[in-house]
Amino acid sequence: MTAQSGATEKALESIAALSGRSHREALALLPDLQRHGAQTVEAWLTAARRLLEYDIDAGGAFVQGTREAERISETVMPWTAQALRFLQWPAATAAIDGFRARATGHFTAPGRFLVDPQYKRALLVYQGEKLKMITYWCEVCGIRAYTPGPCVCCQADTELDLRDPDDIR
Ligand SMILES: [Zn+2]
Repeated sequence: MTAQSGATEKALESIAALSGRSHREALALLPDLQRHGAQTVEAWLTAARRLLEYDIDAGGAFVQGTREAERISETVMPWTAQALRFLQWPAATAAIDGFRARATGHFTAPGRFLVDPQYKRALLVYQGEKLKMITYWCEVCGIRAYTPGPCVCCQADTELDLRDPDDIR
């Protein structure tokens, strides 16, 4: 057995109680996460637990997607923060169905990759085989947003609208 802090141990127990599969994947991810420091490990475990509690599939997708996000971006926190946005949105089922988010971004220096924040349209999901961008559309105003929530203009509920990244207006 590896030595883990009490907090980590406890968080892993909570995850195990929610999903055996996510627990196994989280254990496998731990060495990679630990390279980013104890704070990142704690934040990630908390996000995984909260997402699993919110929706077992969303949490599972988050845990599953972490390895790729970490490999591509060499960071974990932007991905974690992005995933948590789903918790603020009460009708996330459609997004959760397609919640295979991919980290997108750009190199800021050799070997240094920065994940684009979501307002730069970074959150992509697979819908079937196709990569789609998560957007939110206000019918009333014809305004597109990239984060969930009420319309910036009329405050009406926006609808999830998965768009082809090449076809965004
Ligand atoms: Zn509106």
